[in-house]
Amino acid sequence: MKRLIKNGRVVDPASGTDETLDILLEGPSIADVDKKIAAKGAEILDAAGLVVAPGFIDMHVHLREPGYERKETIATGLAAALAGGFTGVCCMPNTDPVNDCASVTRYILERARASSPVAVYPIGAVTRGSAGEELAPYSELREAGVRAISDDGHPVKKSSVMRRALEYAGSLGLLVIDHCEDPDLAEGGVMHEGEVSVRLGLKGIPAEAESIPVLRDIALSALTGRPVHIAHVSTRQSVEAIRAAKKRKIRVTAEATPHHFTLTHEAVASFDTRTKMNPPLRPKEDVDAVIAGLADGTLDVIATDHAPHTYEEKLQEYDRAPNGIIGLQTAVPLALDRLVRTGRVSLARIVDAFSSAPARILGLENKGAIRVGADADLTLLNLRKEFCFREADVLSLSRNSPYFGMKLKGAVAGVFIAGEKVL
Ligand SMILES: [Zn+2]
Repeated sequence: MKRLIKNGRVVDPASGTDETLDILLEGPSIADVDKKIAAKGAEILDAAGLVVAPGFIDMHVHLREPGYERKETIATGLAAALAGGFTGVCCMPNTDPVNDCASVTRYILERARASSPVAVYPIGAVTRGSAGEELAPYSELREAGVRAISDDGHPVKKSSVMRRALEYAGSLGLLVIDHCEDPDLAEGGVMHEGEVSVRLGLKGIPAEAESIPVLRDIALSALTGRPVHIAHVSTRQSVEAIRAAKKRKIRVTAEATPHHFTLTHEAVASFDTRTKMNPPLRPKEDVDAVIAGLADGTLDVIATDHAPHTYEEKLQEYDRAPNGIIGLQTAVPLALDRLVRTGRVSLARIVDAFSSAPARILGLENKGAIRVGADADLTLLNLRKEFCFREADVLSLSRNSPYFGMKLKGAVAGVFIAGEKVL
């Protein structure tokens, strides 16, 4: 089957392209990219007025299955991902059982293939049970299809364990992703430590609880020569540390979440538990630093940290409610509305943060680029479309979003996966 996407504004950060072009898809691959393509018998899609980007990949998602199917299943999570414009997602290993062995990895991959065209890249655990002590069997995980490892939800507390994980995983070509949190410094905290936490009488988590382990991981990456990826960066101190490390050619990459570039700790004053996350929402200067980090590429990737929780769980008092919000269906519109429309981050950088950068960091060779021979995974955007995000639009099993009722300009207009139009 041939498909011809005509007259779209093709934005491909991998080649620096931003111009009106036609794209010919043949089978699961891109067959041609050029000014005017004539292809007999091809199904034609007019993309005039739309941005055509490489397929978006979310590096940080919690699909909750196996074990927490009341919050989310692989099928519902992937339905939300597709509606949000994603052609692939990485799922974190903090399921029950933890994804620390090949049988869990294979289970996730089988369920994913049976339920959705969206590609799933399971992330394995750094340590057995993510308990922080014994390394997980990395070569077994890699063979089963894992490309990265993380104990996300928990930091890798011991520096010696982190060092050995970087050495061993790095030798197998596996990326280590760290949830940077100093558990002693953060202990008991439920929001950012600052003027708002004092006013509300809630126990705070200082910014240093994140930046200290970020600095440790950078030092251990330099020591081992292996790459490290910092999840959900939320503070100015972390952004500055990563920027300085990149200048020194240390192999560190990092991600920011939409909630950390759109909301501040002032939102917690509502006591709405949909403002409770880890790392917590920060003051405006940190939000501005995260946005500047995305603009200059210090923060390579936008990832959602999509974290479904049931209504009952989030209904508890602020101290007791679990951390996290869903994010798959709002990430792209929030980035387009708050960062591109306002001129704070270029469209090319946003497309890079959602597609080319995660593909590069994860080593997905045929993804994240619009070129002949690459996989025909594409995300189409309409920068002019305005819409209001409503609870009824949610495809996830959970509804824990702080963005209901928000008007946003910029939307996902279509998705192609392996040459098929799937949205
Ligand atoms: Zn995390």
